[in-house]
Amino acid sequence: MSDVIVIGGGQAGASLVARLRSKGHDGAITLICAEPVPPYQRPPLSKAYLLGEMEEHRLYLRPAAFYADNDITLRLNAPVTAIDAAGKTVSVGSDTLRYDTLVLATGSRPRRLPAAIGGDLDGVYQVRTLADVDAMAAEFRPGRRLLVVGGGYIGLEAAAVASKLGLEVTVVEMAERILQRVACAETSDYFRATHARHGVSICEETGLGRLTGDGHVDGALLADGRRLEIDFAIVGVGITPDSALAASAGLPVDNGIIVNAYGQTSDPDVFAAGDCAIFPFRDRMMRLESVQNAIDQAECVADNIVGIERAYDPKPWFWSDQYDVKLQIAGLNLGYDRVIARQGTAEGAVSFWYYCADRLLAVDAMNDARAYMIGKRLIEGGKSPAPAVIADPATDMKALLRG
Ligand code: FAD
Repeated sequence: MSDVIVIGGGQAGASLVARLRSKGHDGAITLICAEPVPPYQRPPLSKAYLLGEMEEHRLYLRPAAFYADNDITLRLNAPVTAIDAAGKTVSVGSDTLRYDTLVLATGSRPRRLPAAIGGDLDGVYQVRTLADVDAMAAEFRPGRRLLVVGGGYIGLEAAAVASKLGLEVTVVEMAERILQRVACAETSDYFRATHARHGVSICEETGLGRLTGDGHVDGALLADGRRLEIDFAIVGVGITPDSALAASAGLPVDNGIIVNAYGQTSDPDVFAAGDCAIFPFRDRMMRLESVQNAIDQAECVADNIVGIERAYDPKPWFWSDQYDVKLQIAGLNLGYDRVIARQGTAEGAVSFWYYCADRLLAVDAMNDARAYMIGKRLIEGGKSPAPAVIADPATDMKALLRG
């Protein structure tokens, strides 16, 4: 069997090496991580871990012994600096490591605010790594003033944590509404109202002019001329796939490392998976930024490496926790033209069902695990109940699965 090197010890890298061994791969496996800690889950970084309700060791995807027990060499604090695709080697520090098969699972990087508008001031944070969150932990003290730049899921989750801990929180969102890139207006309305109930001030259609301060951030000038006094800022304005290493090795990249349905790049011995990979999906190229995608695509790549040929067929799901609201999303809402609301039975439970003509595409379920579960199964089964059936409170939802 071939020797496999995986670059990037995140959700995708860790899933991939585990799958390789479970599918009987008996060659050497090396997982190379730039970060100093073993592979961990990122979602709690803006949720329970940021809130102080989860210990670091519980973030780890596998116990330390897992890697040794499965004869997987884990190299921490070891950024790969170059790939020689012709010679089939990678450079790590002063070492040159040889591979038969290489997998890029390098994830993504948060977009930063330019230094010209205060992006490099002290007290300006991002939420991507454990180190990022540990660096900002001391800022989360009651009464302090936080500005969140960007009303996407990560920014809103951080705002919810800060509000719960007694901070004064303002969110600025340049777009017409929070969550505009990822959700329908109904879901935005739901979360805007939830944050308002908790005292978070959300300013939509409001750009950030710049952050101010002499060394350390102390204020923000908004595009509409308002000035805010703040103690620190969190920037959550999206991510870019980490494809620089691949590009420098001559692999095609375009908003991610381009792979085919098997996760293979233009070099048949080099694969990519997770946030960093852009793959064919229906009639387009698609990149997904989610745990589901990182795990499923990585496992698909592992299967192809061991010779179980199969194409990646994503079954997207996602979640977000804000205050006492659990949002669960099934499917992809790309191209929706109408949204149907359905009230759940529990208090505050509601779901929004995305349709394109009569085809059900996706469901956003707030505190409604049943709607999520049924929606997910309908979408995965290619079933589309008529919108009026979903809207009807008398519909027996479970019966739809049998139809
Ligand atoms: P990553 O997890 O980013 O791992 C990539 C790793 O590669 C990193 O450790 C990086 O240091 C390493 N690396 C990069 N370059 C090199 C190199 N040259 N050499 C060695 N190592 C390298 N998804 C959900 O589905 N639900 C959620 O609720 C959710 N919440 C999130 C909250 C936060 C705060 C964040 C940051 C993400 C969240 N996500 C969520 C997204 C999800 O965590 C990512 O989609 C997932 O982690 C992607 O996995 P990955 O392995 O592709 O990339």
